[in-house]
Amino acid sequence: MSEKKKEKKEYLTLTSGKMWQPYNWHVGEYWTKFFDGFKEKKFYGIKCPKCGVVYGLPRQVCGRCFVKMDDWVEIGPEGTVGAFTVIKFPYIDPNTGQIIQPLPFTTAAIRLDGADTAFWHYINETDETKIKVGKRVRLVWQENRKGNIHDIKYFEMID
Ligand SMILES: [Zn+2]
Repeated sequence: MSEKKKEKKEYLTLTSGKMWQPYNWHVGEYWTKFFDGFKEKKFYGIKCPKCGVVYGLPRQVCGRCFVKMDDWVEIGPEGTVGAFTVIKFPYIDPNTGQIIQPLPFTTAAIRLDGADTAFWHYINETDETKIKVGKRVRLVWQENRKGNIHDIKYFEMID
């Protein structure tokens, strides 16, 4: 055996660490108005003046008609589950960099009453046999709201 083959290999070792980098960003006029509604427990959608579609999360321009939208309409607080997933494995929260606890938890695509589009948020049921597409849910607000997506505590099953 040659000397070269006797060499012991060293493997690269990566060490996980923590890094904290606070930053702010401007969410824009529409999302500012949207989140300001949360402080008063109001969830606003925005309606296209051309096709009438109500977007459950605000956007300036209709994705179908390409026209500017400015017709804010209150939607919810009840809605319908369009899809869901029960998370049972460790998952890193992109907002905090920490593993989301406790497991399991459930996220669902929820179409609020009065909206034509859905968005994803938590629902407070983790037994997948009790959750079905088409089930009704109701928005539960945090007691102290700060004007961000975390002002929604979760959606609770109502049927
Ligand atoms: Zn439109």
